[in-house]
Amino acid sequence: MDKRTFIKLSGMAGAGLVAAPLVSGLIGCGNAPVDPGTPAAQDAATTGFTLPELGYAHDALEPAIDRQTMKIHHERHHAGYVRKLNAALEGHAMAGQSLEALLAGLGPNDTGLRNNGGGHFNHALFWKVLTPSSEATGPSGMLADRITASFGSQDALLDALSQAAGSRFGSGWAWLVQDENQPDRLFVCSTANQDNPLMKGVVEADHQGRPLLGIDVWEHAYYLNYQNRRTDYVAAVLNRINWSEVAALMA
Ligand code: MN
Repeated sequence: MDKRTFIKLSGMAGAGLVAAPLVSGLIGCGNAPVDPGTPAAQDAATTGFTLPELGYAHDALEPAIDRQTMKIHHERHHAGYVRKLNAALEGHAMAGQSLEALLAGLGPNDTGLRNNGGGHFNHALFWKVLTPSSEATGPSGMLADRITASFGSQDALLDALSQAAGSRFGSGWAWLVQDENQPDRLFVCSTANQDNPLMKGVVEADHQGRPLLGIDVWEHAYYLNYQNRRTDYVAAVLNRINWSEVAALMA
């Protein structure tokens, strides 16, 4: 598959969806070439879904996220989700579907696909919406308009994300989501473990939609540098958001 082929949501889940990039270029499906010389590649499967590149150096987000955390998170945790997802899909009826379609169609008891398909999607999105500080700018254009309309202000959005991230008990994610039926409406929610708003068979109706931004609040995302200070980690991550990438993910 062409790496730049946009993964389309149309046809995956009912009416009201428009075709637009979600994690274009990051979610491998098919036999993408893997450089066997990198540790990340050695940890990923050679067929099926593949571990996407970060797009920046492991230390590019310091001091918000330290080099060692980024390296372990990408090359161990994310690669592990990819590997286990591919293993779970061997001989599975859902094999061959796009990742988005797979996530939209699975049920709560599809444990291997739920945990590892979610893990793959969530981390691919996370890497994509982070950026080195020198490149960070605030939301603009239509995204800024939708944020203002939905939350009142950009600060109110950041407060909502902080609240969602901070109040998630145990492991999970905080999300900025676009309502698929009302594209101008954005909302914030959190989900447990590796669940995400694409999982219509798993998460509550008011958590379902098109994820535009995800913040990983598993301890593996921050413990080396922040220990129990999740609030500090979340605040630092919110200063490293690539808002132009977030905007590009909107339908
Ligand atoms: Mn993680």
